[in-house]
Amino acid sequence: MTITKGVKIGVLAVQGAFREHIAMFERLGVETVEVRLPEQLDDIDGLVIPGGESTAIGRLMATFGLLEPVRRTIEAGTPVYGTCAGMILLARDIGREAQPILGEMDIVVKRNAFGRQLDSFESDIAVPDLGPEPFHAVFIRAPAIEQVGPEARELARLDDGTIVAAEQGTMLATAFHPELSGDARMHQRFVALCVRAREHRAKPYAATAPRGDDAHAGAAGIDAIS
Ligand code: GLN
Repeated sequence: MTITKGVKIGVLAVQGAFREHIAMFERLGVETVEVRLPEQLDDIDGLVIPGGESTAIGRLMATFGLLEPVRRTIEAGTPVYGTCAGMILLARDIGREAQPILGEMDIVVKRNAFGRQLDSFESDIAVPDLGPEPFHAVFIRAPAIEQVGPEARELARLDDGTIVAAEQGTMLATAFHPELSGDARMHQRFVALCVRAREHRAKPYAATAPRGDDAHAGAAGIDAIS
């Protein structure tokens, strides 16, 4: 367990499947903290944005003044992992949807991409970066990655070619829910990323940065895209 010693991962806990992520990290012996307030971002080594309802998560983040602090945290090099709705929030482009997003990752994402009859499904997919064993992926009203920009890299696709996972530097995104399938490899990969980032990053002194601009930005509609 020495590799995870001292690492603390924040799990955004405003809505959605945050408890399941926390349970997975507990299984791995990694400390977590539920994040609902901007100051809870100050001493974390990584942040998970869970699945749920991206419109609700985005709006609650705006209400709680979290959008700008989370953007700053990501831009300062703290790793972030978005699953499903979390991936939607990370994407720079979600088409014509008008909802607050973070917009940090160079991917184009389509919400609810699998239509009604495929609302939820499970599939064993190849994730070469995780080794030869297929990953049992659970999709729930899942988004798809329509385009991976030059800054990002594709990590997995379905048999039909739909891209369902990508990474970009310290950012990781999956359309599926590894916290629900029992396979810990994606979480282990994220923890390893957090350990590396912590070793190589000078701590951003976010605690001293001015606060309170987020509610203002939200009220002015700057965080909303359409
Ligand atoms: N359909 C949801 C959305 O658009 C995402 C579903 C999920 O996170 N499982 O936000």
